[in-house]
Formats: sequence, C-alpha cells, structure tokens
Amino acid sequence: MSTVPELFGSMVFNETVMKERLPKDTFKVLKKTMDEGSPLEEGVANIVANAMKDWAVEKGATHYTHWFQPMTGITAEKHDSFISPQTDGTVIMEFSGKELIKGEPDGSSFPSGGIRATCEARGYTAWDPTSPAFIKDGSLCIPTAFCSYGGEALDKKTPLLRSMDAIDKQAKRILKLFGKTVKRVCTTVGPEQEYFLIDKTLWEQRKDLIYTGRTLFGAKPPKGQELEDHYFGTIKPRISAYMKELDEELWKLGILAKTKHNEVAPAQHEMAPIFTTTNIAADDNQLTMEMMKKVAARHGLVCLLHEKPFAGVNGSGKHNNWSLSTDKGENLLEPGSTPEENAQFLLILTAIIKGIDEYQDLLRASVATAGNDHRLGANEAPPAIISMFLGDELDSILESIRTGKPYDRKAKEVLRLGVDALPAFPKDNTDRNRTSPFAFTGNKFEFRSLGSSLSISCPNIMLNTIVAEEFAQFADILEKSKDFTKDLNELIKKTLSKHHRIIFNGNGYSDEWVREAEKRGLLNLKTTSDAMPYFIAQKNIDMFKKHGVYTGTEMKARYEIQMEEYVKVLNIEALTMIEMTRKQIVPAVFKYLQSVSATAAGIKALVPGAECSAEAGIVQTVSGLCDAAVKKIAALETAMLNSKECADITAEAKFYTASVIPAMTELRAVADELETLVGEDYWPFPTYGDLLFRV
Ligand code: ADP
Ligand code: MG
Repeated sequence: MSTVPELFGSMVFNETVMKERLPKDTFKVLKKTMDEGSPLEEGVANIVANAMKDWAVEKGATHYTHWFQPMTGITAEKHDSFISPQTDGTVIMEFSGKELIKGEPDGSSFPSGGIRATCEARGYTAWDPTSPAFIKDGSLCIPTAFCSYGGEALDKKTPLLRSMDAIDKQAKRILKLFGKTVKRVCTTVGPEQEYFLIDKTLWEQRKDLIYTGRTLFGAKPPKGQELEDHYFGTIKPRISAYMKELDEELWKLGILAKTKHNEVAPAQHEMAPIFTTTNIAADDNQLTMEMMKKVAARHGLVCLLHEKPFAGVNGSGKHNNWSLSTDKGENLLEPGSTPEENAQFLLILTAIIKGIDEYQDLLRASVATAGNDHRLGANEAPPAIISMFLGDELDSILESIRTGKPYDRKAKEVLRLGVDALPAFPKDNTDRNRTSPFAFTGNKFEFRSLGSSLSISCPNIMLNTIVAEEFAQFADILEKSKDFTKDLNELIKKTLSKHHRIIFNGNGYSDEWVREAEKRGLLNLKTTSDAMPYFIAQKNIDMFKKHGVYTGTEMKARYEIQMEEYVKVLNIEALTMIEMTRKQIVPAVFKYLQSVSATAAGIKALVPGAECSAEAGIVQTVSGLCDAAVKKIAALETAMLNSKECADITAEAKFYTASVIPAMTELRAVADELETLVGEDYWPFPTYGDLLFRV
C-alpha cells in the first residue's frame, strides 16, 4: 500500500507531472495560461496533448473524454479511444491539441432552456486549463466548458469562470485604492458535504428511493435522532471501511479530503475537504459526489445525496465556505488583530453586507430546488430568509462606525476550564451561530443554505458577481476621491446605515425572527416557485450583463430549466407515490385484512358467540384508512391533471407548490398511518427503522 503523499494526485496531470513531462518553454506558456487565463496556441496545445496522452496511457487509460457540467447539475462525459489506424492494419495511440482544446458533442439532449434549436444541436466543449485533467475509470478526463454554436453558456462552469474574472477585475480596483498591485484575486471555496449511507439490499426494495432518491412514505420509528448519540459518534466498521476507501479514491484524484464524521441523523455522515480555488472546488465537489456513490456500491451500500431522504430526521446540506485571496497569499477576509483599524477589510466587509442585502433574492434562488425546499426553515437548516451573522466583535465595531459612538475594544476573553493541566485559550469572537444562512467565521463566510446534491457553481456565481458589483460601485466612487480617508469613512458609514438590516445574530430558527425579518423588509421565499422568478428580475439581469457573467437570454434559459426541473421532480415523486400506494400498499393492506377477517371467521366457527372485537376493530380502522388512501390517490391524480391547464411554466410550478404538494402530503399521512397498523410481515417495503438503523 502506498503512502498518502504517494497516492495523492497520482491520477492527476498536475503541475509536477507537467514540469516533468513538458519541455521547459511549453510548461512556461501553459503555466501562464493556468495562472492568468492567457490563450493557448495550437502548437503548444499539441505538445501538451501528446504528453498528457503518454502519461495517461502509462497509467492504463485507453480513452479520453471532455468532462463537463451541463445544466442537469451533474457531470457529462463521452468517451473516445486514443486509437488511430495505420496503413498496415495496426493502431497507434494518438491525441492532438485540437482534440484537447475543443470537442463537439451532440448536445441536443441536454437542457438548454430554448437557447439551442434542434437544427443546430451541436454543443461545443472547451478545455478549462485552470482545472487539471485526471484519469477516472480508464479515461483521461479533461475538464471543459460547454457552450452553444452562438457562444451561449450551456453549463455551470462557463458562468462560474466568468464570475471569477469579474470579481478579480473589481477586487484589483479596490486593492489599488490601498496602494496594492496584484496579478490575480481568486475566490476560494471549501464545501462541506453531508450524505446518508444505507444498505443496498434494503434500498432495492424501495421504489421511492430508486426513482426519486428520497422516501415518499415512512412512519416515524420509535427512535430517531433525539438521543443525539450519532453526531460525532464512533464510526461503525462498515462505514469506516467505506470512508477510508473514499478518502483514498479522492486523494488519488488530487482532492483534499480532510475531515470525516458522523452527522446528526442516524446513518448520516459528512466529508469536508480543504478549500481551494472556486472552479477547482466545484469540479472536485462534483467528483466527490460521484465517488461517494461509486465507493458505496463496492461496500453493499447506497449513498443518498438527496436533501431530505427521510422525514422527521435532519436532511443533508452543503456548507459553502467562501473567501477571497490574492496571488500573493493575502486573504481579503482576514480582519487582522485590530479589525477596527483595518480599513481595507472594513471596506470589503461593507461591500459584502451591501451585496447580500441588495441581492438576497439571488442567493435564495441560487439554492432553490424541490429537494432543498424541505430543509430551509424546517428547524434543521437555515431559514429561507437570507441574513448575515458577523459575531460580537465585528458587530460592535460596525455599530460604532454607524452610530459614531466610540468602539470600546474588549480585551480578548480567556476561556478557562478550571483544570490546571489544561491550557486556557482565547475565546473565539465569531462563536458560531449555526442558525444563520450566511455567517462570518473568522476569515471567510459560510453560506449554509445549499442542499447536499447541489452543484456549488450557481451559489458561487451569485456570490462572486454580487461582490464584484459592489466592489465596482465602491471603486467608482473612491477612485475619484480627493480626500480618500474621509470619503472612505463616509462611504462605509452611509452604506452600513442603509444595509445593517441584513445583519442578524439571534436564533434564525425562531418564529420571532420570521416576524422581525418581515418588519425589516427582508424576503422570505419559502419555495422554489416563490424564489426563482426573482432570478430574472430586471435589476439582476442588468447586473449579470454588466459583468459579462450571463446574457439576458442565458438567464431566461436557466430560469426555464430550473422551473421545469422543479415540476418534473415533483411529477416523478407524485407518480411514484401513486404507483407504490396502488400496487404495493393497498394490496398489502388487503392481504392483512383478509387474514384478520379469516381469523375472526375461524374463531367464530369454532367458538360460536365469540366477540372478536380486536379483529373487528382492526378491520374497521384499517379498511377505513384504505378507503381514504384510494380517495387521496384520486385527489392527487386530479391535481396533476389540472396542472396541465397552466399557461406557462411559472404558473405550472406555482400550481405544483399550491396543489400537488399538499395532495402528496395528504396521501402520505394516510399511508404512514396504515404502516403503524398493518402487521410487519405484510408491509411491502423496508421501514424507516430498517433503513436508518440496519447499516
Ligand atoms: P465547521 O464544520 O466548523 O463549519 P470545518 O473545519 O469542518 O468547519 O470546515 C471549514 C471549511 O472551511 C473547510 O472546508 C475549510 O477548508 C474551509 N476554509 C477554511 N479557510 C477557507 C478560506 N480562506 N476560503 C474558503 N474556505 C475556507
Ligand atoms: Mg460548517
């Protein structure tokens, strides 16, 4: 077995490999492209492609693929072998610069939101040299962007790269104001990934898990997460073996897997990597999710990445830790030891506060999916209301700036444990508020509203562009300033006065906060169909256009795709519920009723005058609920049928929220009640108790 450093990145065409295998000049040009985004010539690309191919073939690869991220939210790949026929009937392995740089997959079956007519079905993939190529399942995978013939982005990577360029440009203007010149400002992200692991043989017996990734039925088991005995608990050997193999697979791919532990719900776990540049973090997170599923299969397990696989216990999210740093290694969200005197930090922080307040709608829309709607505001994840948490120290500093009252710098409190052998340590000023959607955690922000299955691209596109916009506005003002210090202070003060409503340090799960937020005029967009229409609000289209991140057409296309996806997901869930009730639950109930009735009839034949009140009671209740279930199926079918009358996708999505979801909830309530009454041997699929505790 190799050591971790030997294993790490062994399947990645990283800088070390490039240096080893490329002529010096070629490496230099490529490195410039990687660091500064300068274009690559075909001659150079040919040399790089050949070196990549030789390296990949030595590692056993036979194919290459442009690996891209269409708007389905998952990754796509089409594999071509390296073989090239020779006149003598043999083949050699070949890979050209052209093949490396550009691909032309037939993209007609990927969602395009109407951007691409089928007559121009071709999509183009273009190499993203800032994210390294890697080998997966015998194929050399080349991270690529995916666009249409007209150059419109059809994927999640292109706008992410554009947003990184936008924030780079504007952040450099801000740094210039403080006399600093840097080559590049990059955003960094560390996404913490939650997931469930359940037994594969049990999973196979549940159509809802197979078709939708979550349970659509399931009565509460006697034990859930109330004892709080799973969080950080000892990891079971089977799970531990899984986590070990997952780490190794991720390390081979150069992914910085760092932390692993059990999460709050039974069968729930988390993996956190060390942060890296945003586009690489996004690629890595997609690969991580794929590996989580693949490795699970090798252990007889299934990895559920759905946001809410089980009702009644916590769902899964993804915490997007976000910061900005320069190529010189300065983290722009590092307050330093005297944040009150750190004007650059305060200006940047103020820009972010203004941005989060002005574009709350976009941040909420960026995490909107049918699955995530189950979590936000359900006392396990941040509310659907977007607000910011800054911690006591920063809060009082900002308060003093805003009100003009002097800031009384508190001596850092020391935490003493009352045991001499244990050291005292300074108290962390940003003591975590777990209920906040957007929390400052010392030198980064943690955006906690993401669902576990979401591609992190979208929220980061929003964050990067929003902050770029605020930087641009501030730079426009301050670049013209004659008295920089005075104007800077005024700008910060004025901005904070206007936007401090977005800061909230209290309990985000409480009902008071919902009322208070409403008073402050903050948005509370509970569902995807409430949130998504804001995405295409004119102010948002204008902003994205201004920074060259999205065109209006691209945004409208994305809106359509997401609303359609919402409806499709709910439609599949509703159809699955109907099928499971009709074909599994109702027949099981009949069998049980028959057995109880036969028992009573048998007893009565044997003991004339026997009361059989237990049997009668059970038959009456269960049969009544079965009637109700059949009626609820009909009601759900009617709702689905009525949705066809909607004029457009906006109306249809809203109709699903208002009518189809409630009909699904009602059907589930009856079925779950039946589950508690029907004999265990009769129930047609594994219960919550089985799924959550038999791993
Ligand atoms: P917690 O579970 O308490 O939120 P973790 O330590 O598990 O914290 O996760 C913190 C995450 O934040 C890690 O992925 C870490 O790499 C990431 N992180 C740390 N510094 C930065 C930074 N400057 N930019 C982006 N992410 C960061
Ligand atoms: Mg966290």
